[in-house]
Amino acid sequence: MTGNDLRPAGASPLPADILDEELDALRAETPGLAGQTFLLSCGASLMPRPVVERMHGYLDLEARLGGYGAFTASEERLERVYGSIAQLINAAPAEIALVENATVAWQLAFHSLDFTPGDVVITAEAEYGANYVTLLQMQRRRGVVIRVCPSDEQGVVDLTALERMIDPKVRLISLTWVPTNGGLNNPAAAVGQIARAHGIPYLLDACQAVGQMPVDVQTLGCDFLAATSRKFLRGPRGAGFLYVRRAMLDRCEPPFIDHIGARWVERNRYELRDDARRYESWESNHMARLGMGEAADYAMEVGIDRIWRRCRRLAQRLRDGLASVPSFRTHDLGACPSAIVSFSSDAVDPRSIVAGAAARGIVISTSSPESTRLDAERRHLPTLVRAAPHYFNTEADVDQLVAFAGSLIRHGDG
Ligand SMILES: *Cc1c(COP(=O)(O)O)cnc(C)c1O
Repeated sequence: MTGNDLRPAGASPLPADILDEELDALRAETPGLAGQTFLLSCGASLMPRPVVERMHGYLDLEARLGGYGAFTASEERLERVYGSIAQLINAAPAEIALVENATVAWQLAFHSLDFTPGDVVITAEAEYGANYVTLLQMQRRRGVVIRVCPSDEQGVVDLTALERMIDPKVRLISLTWVPTNGGLNNPAAAVGQIARAHGIPYLLDACQAVGQMPVDVQTLGCDFLAATSRKFLRGPRGAGFLYVRRAMLDRCEPPFIDHIGARWVERNRYELRDDARRYESWESNHMARLGMGEAADYAMEVGIDRIWRRCRRLAQRLRDGLASVPSFRTHDLGACPSAIVSFSSDAVDPRSIVAGAAARGIVISTSSPESTRLDAERRHLPTLVRAAPHYFNTEADVDQLVAFAGSLIRHGDG
């Protein structure tokens, strides 16, 4: 499979940028844009109408036919979700497991490595809270050793330091590519090269990358990749996926299995499925899976390269705008930052900023140090405000947030 979009062969190539007429159509297809300025695609983005309709259709079918009947009637369409997700990240459908969320995906991958005391896991400063507490649990329960790779002067994971940290005790490299708390965009493919060169399994948290920027597991060199549906991918909540590299399937076993992922072939014997679906449980939310598949198709139709270009441009405009407001500072690290813009003001408390924005119909949120404690402690970060434009946002949306920030300073704590 390739990472090409779904347009028919021979269709003229998409223009490099999303054109104004196209943007109007994309916005019209997004019900959640009516009546609010939505800048929180890093939290849970807005579903486009085809995603919503796909799920409504399935729910109606479940109501009419019952859960099993609806599944049978939709089996082929459900099967195609694997193809859509695989195409989105340049994997094979047999390397995809559909699960409840990114955290479950990450944990399934992590716990399929059978850690013994003294095994080392290398992580980095941007590691997501849920992942890190799992590392701490394994440190406590199994004697796993956590090594945190430092960041370089730019704030991204320090590749030279990483290379130096590797020794025969290292069982896993775990990286959060784009963290939840800001614009950092770690060199995930360069980390993959190092992992490969040393034959160390590489688990990539791509939660904030999928749907925002090109994701290609071949160039990333990751063995596992975890992602969610509801963020930049614009799918429903309660869905996510795990990519497992084919070669990894023979090297580890899911921490939990059921009798579908592993057939109970004889009284005292089971056989694992030969694809990544051995990581799934049989019972699942088929409606949400369909929604996630539709969201992947939708993103590919819009064009991931174009999405990424526009996201970056809008985020840059927001950073520049906020930097011009007295007392406001942005905190995003590294070159080529993602669309997650994190900021604070020395004059206004973050919760007041979010509440004041909400009163004006601008949807943003705070990000607490606990979501990314290593980074927050190193940089002495307070609770930050997070705003993430997506390709469906406009320059006017971004300018509205900047103007609101300016109004807070002129009128005092608004
Ligand atoms: C949101 C997020 C997760 C968790 O995703 P869920 O779908 O909520 O489990 C993991 N990692 C990062 C970097 C995130 O931003």
